[in-house]
Amino acid sequence: MTRPPDETGIETLIQLMSRLPGLGPRSARRAVLAMLKRRAQVMAPLAQSLAEVALNARDCRICGNISTADLCPICQDPSRATGELCVVEDVADLWALERAGVFRGRYQVLGGTLSALDGLGPEELGIPRLVARVSDEAVTEVILALSATIDAQTTAHYIADALTVTTAQITTLAQGVPVGGELDHLDDGTLGAALRARRKL
Ligand code: ZN
Repeated sequence: MTRPPDETGIETLIQLMSRLPGLGPRSARRAVLAMLKRRAQVMAPLAQSLAEVALNARDCRICGNISTADLCPICQDPSRATGELCVVEDVADLWALERAGVFRGRYQVLGGTLSALDGLGPEELGIPRLVARVSDEAVTEVILALSATIDAQTTAHYIADALTVTTAQITTLAQGVPVGGELDHLDDGTLGAALRARRKL
């Protein structure tokens, strides 16, 4: 049986959508159908918004946050040069901490955890750059706000070792982060408590 040509592009759209986290082919199809039923109210503004973000979004040159400029608003804000630097795995974790509103310093996004399988080594995660930054910006405390998964904890210890050449104090989130838990799944209260009660690594 040959597939009919995808004249409308709907099949392509479904295929692209099904690559998103949390969406399989079935839910992608459902989402596309829902959009098609509300073309003017949902689909057209969504398409415009997607095009706009795709065109404007870039990674902050310093911390890896997603921004529209070369430097994100946090890196541009002088009041956030507190000497505290919070290391997170993913932009989603940075957003979670910002939502919780408990941290006033700056960030560095690793973009993953050390993984030979995924080809993620210290260089890919920007760890040498992090060490240089800690010295250059006179950072006094590095908070390793990584998940409680084994890979993330291995990464945290690697970073702590790499940072022994600096004078910064290394801390990590306190209890409250469930073992195996991922940061951006925590509610704001729990995340705030874990940050406030951070301890020396
Ligand atoms: Zn930044």
